[in-house]
Amino acid sequence: MAETVEHVELEWDTPLFLTARTQFEQALPYASVPDVVAERLRFPERATMVSMPVQMDDDTWRVLPGYRVQHSSVLGPTKGGIRYDPHVTLGECAALAMWMTWKCALLRLPYGGAKGGVRCNPRELSPAELQRLTRRFTSEMMSVIGPQEDIPAPDMATDEQTMAWMMDTYSMQKGYAVPEVVTGKPISIGGSVFRAEATGAGVVMVTERACARLGRPLPGQSCVVQGFGKVGAIAAEELAAHGAKVVAVSDVSGGSYNPEGLDLDAVTVWVHEHRHELIDYPGGEAVTNEELLELPCDVLVLAALEEQLTEDNAGDVKATLIAEGANGPTTLEADEILADRGIRVLPDILTNAGGVTVSYFEWVQDLGRLFWSRDETRFKLREMMTDAFDRVWHLADEQGMSLRNAALVAGIREVAGALTARGIYP
Ligand code: NAD
Repeated sequence: MAETVEHVELEWDTPLFLTARTQFEQALPYASVPDVVAERLRFPERATMVSMPVQMDDDTWRVLPGYRVQHSSVLGPTKGGIRYDPHVTLGECAALAMWMTWKCALLRLPYGGAKGGVRCNPRELSPAELQRLTRRFTSEMMSVIGPQEDIPAPDMATDEQTMAWMMDTYSMQKGYAVPEVVTGKPISIGGSVFRAEATGAGVVMVTERACARLGRPLPGQSCVVQGFGKVGAIAAEELAAHGAKVVAVSDVSGGSYNPEGLDLDAVTVWVHEHRHELIDYPGGEAVTNEELLELPCDVLVLAALEEQLTEDNAGDVKATLIAEGANGPTTLEADEILADRGIRVLPDILTNAGGVTVSYFEWVQDLGRLFWSRDETRFKLREMMTDAFDRVWHLADEQGMSLRNAALVAGIREVAGALTARGIYP
């Protein structure tokens, strides 16, 4: 098998996918994986690319590219977000799909990883245009998604409404309601309570536990949060609710810094009243996203997008603990620099796994047509995040490896064990 594909450049071989694959290679020596199983897992199982005509409000038409990459169906259906972003590529989806596989396995969820998206600028599209785009995308993906095949969820610039349109389009084509085809839906159509907060809350559950292990309790720590969307805004709120001081936040428009601590309620009101843009918020000093990453603080939460800490800025980070709410925000080079500087990085596949975990709860509830309370959901999430965190921390300690490597090793072992047991078909 290795002979046929090794060294051949495939369509998804972009820098981000090579980062994901290099992380896999770095973890492999510790994961005791048979060669044939390792070789299988180096590649996504399936990649779908479509082009979609979408009618604009002014009656012109645009043809937009859409993607869905499914990395591994060894443990169950594939699972992963749909993002609307100008930088979506096949390689980005492939990298994110591979990370989703390790993340689901690390949390011991019966899923493999997938990721998809549409290359567009969502900020330029009206709600009606977004609806047409979403319905067309769902129709194009009918044959590869499904409650037992592949279950989409929200990601960058997609939300509950997007999932409601996807669920409706899928259900209309099937002829009956299929709430379990997507997660992150509105509660009125089978969404789970606490799903909207789950990723941000999970980030803080992991951060809190890490702070305790490091002997510096979260209350009183000063925190900077990059990204003020579904993950970042909730993470900031949860940090403040735990007694930490959030001194800076940012979004795509820029950031705001107040060493005394920001009034997050006022920031939220400002953002809602100013086209979802933080820039010019009067309660702090304006900073760029580049400056924000280098501000003095204890904890830096990365909750915007990938490749934010690189070899160019990792040497200037002042935080001593980094929590990856976003996927892939730290490059391989930055990881090495941060490790040399003794800065601990709480890796994405552990730290932001709260979202997919509550998505799993949502899917289970939909399949069983039953509903859990908010407290029950939060309690179950904490149990699963804590269990994963403790396994990762223990493995890192035992093997003297980074938390990222330990998280990858733990996830890879689960998938490789299952594939070894199943065997490679035929
Ligand atoms: P979102 O669209 O709700 O928020 C993204 C935030 O990042 C926004 O505030 C946006 O303004 C900001 N941003 C975008 N481009 C930026 C740039 N160039 N510089 C600085 N900020 C920028 O998306 P989200 O769901 O919060 O996702 C954020 C990250 O978390 C992504 O990497 C996503 O894959 C990851 N993630 C999300 C979930 C989830 O449940 N939503 C789960 C796991 C991981």
